[in-house]
Amino acid sequence: MPDHTKRAHPARENARTDPAPADWSPETLRAALGRASQWTIDYRRRVGEFPVFPAIEPGQVRSALGERPPKEPEPFERVLADFDAHIVSGLTHWNHPGFLAYFSSSTRAPSIVAELLIAAVGVNAMLWRTSPAATEVERTAVDWLRQAVGLPASFSGLILDTASTATFTALLAARELAGTRVRADGLAGGPALAVYTSEQSHSSVEKSALAAGLGHRSVRRIAVDEAFRMRPEALEAAITEDLARGVRPTMACATIGTTSTASVDPVEALAAVARRHGVWLHVDAAYAGPAAMVPEQRARFRGWETADSIVLNPHKWLGTSLDCSVLLYRDVAPFRESLALTPTYLESEDDETDLMDIGLALGRRFRGLKLWVLFRCVGTDGLAGTMRRHIAMAEAAADRLTEGGVFELAAPVSFSTICFRAASGGDPATEDRRNREILARVNAGGRSFISHTELGGRYVLRLSVGSVHTEERHLDEALEALHRAAADLSPGEPA
Ligand SMILES: *Cc1c(COP(=O)(O)O)cnc(C)c1O
Repeated sequence: MPDHTKRAHPARENARTDPAPADWSPETLRAALGRASQWTIDYRRRVGEFPVFPAIEPGQVRSALGERPPKEPEPFERVLADFDAHIVSGLTHWNHPGFLAYFSSSTRAPSIVAELLIAAVGVNAMLWRTSPAATEVERTAVDWLRQAVGLPASFSGLILDTASTATFTALLAARELAGTRVRADGLAGGPALAVYTSEQSHSSVEKSALAAGLGHRSVRRIAVDEAFRMRPEALEAAITEDLARGVRPTMACATIGTTSTASVDPVEALAAVARRHGVWLHVDAAYAGPAAMVPEQRARFRGWETADSIVLNPHKWLGTSLDCSVLLYRDVAPFRESLALTPTYLESEDDETDLMDIGLALGRRFRGLKLWVLFRCVGTDGLAGTMRRHIAMAEAAADRLTEGGVFELAAPVSFSTICFRAASGGDPATEDRRNREILARVNAGGRSFISHTELGGRYVLRLSVGSVHTEERHLDEALEALHRAAADLSPGEPA
């Protein structure tokens, strides 16, 4: 046995003579929190005055930050001043009311305060016993979300960082269930596996297949109909063909609220196909899932209650700060079979859920708190009301946008997302260029930020309402900027 009592360095001596305090005093902390609170309140008030997208060059922020780590402590006041001067000016402001790009991820005020409390207690919810309340709050908040979106009590779940991680985790469970002994033997020697998802699904499905070792060729991109919804008969055909070739169908991923157009796959029909062949059905509802809280939207979710797993992101439309993604499942066993692994030092006698067994990460943030605080401070009526208003605003904006015939819809308006383009009936390449330039002009204006996508090989503009800060007038502003840009760039003569 080596002698562990002898140390190379007399650390104990240093501990006695080192004059630096371990942490801020309570007075210093109070002052800093006060300044940070004031900053937060001011920022929320003036965020609409910043250009949504910063006018900076790559590397500009880095060069302002200094090359070397400071040796001596600096007062927070000075750090905050630099944050303001060099960092905030280099942000794309996701909380800007004119942020209409991608899917919004704005922060409702209670979530900001919850993040502070999470940092204050700084617990790690890897095991029930490493912070019992953190696990129980997480399970309560997840169950409240389940109830609010109308899913049966047979679903339980947990909070992960992102939908990408959730889908990957579901695929690992599905892979285990496909009966290939991956846990014991790895993928080598087993049958080829296949994953099915539509041409319109999020890249995270494909990435999950790459990360799970299934390979790019395992991903079957199933065709969509004219409204960008996965075709059940095409799924059936792909599965049947794979089975005939000895390929094992592993997971089908349907989407409610696709990334480009927010289209809704016919989950009920897809579930029937998946069930018939014993294929795991995962539903990606990262963006639109929370909208199941809105009673008149509920019908769009028909069939998702039969899925094996579902992901929804409170950090998108519900307004918790990043990150907060909820993975729901009907049976925890395949998740445990794929990932549970307990080293001796983490063994526990407790009969409670140890959430580390379900995901890849050991350390787990206390994310449940911000979802719980949000439910408490806003309520399900409040959350549903915000989404209902966003949907109404998007529908009204689509009507006004297409009045006059300069812009036309490129897909049906779905939830709070609009896909459109300026169309002149001319040469497609010229039209695409014009739309590209319209986007550039609108975004360069700094008041509105929209994004683009590609549909049927054509460049399409895209606007999605989801920020808690966005009001009717911000959409007016965006529409005005769009019409102005289109008028300046007459068809056929892009600048
Ligand atoms: C945003 C989104 C994702 C990815 O979400 P992350 O949490 O950023 O990983 C996946 N699928 C859909 C449908 C999305 O809208």
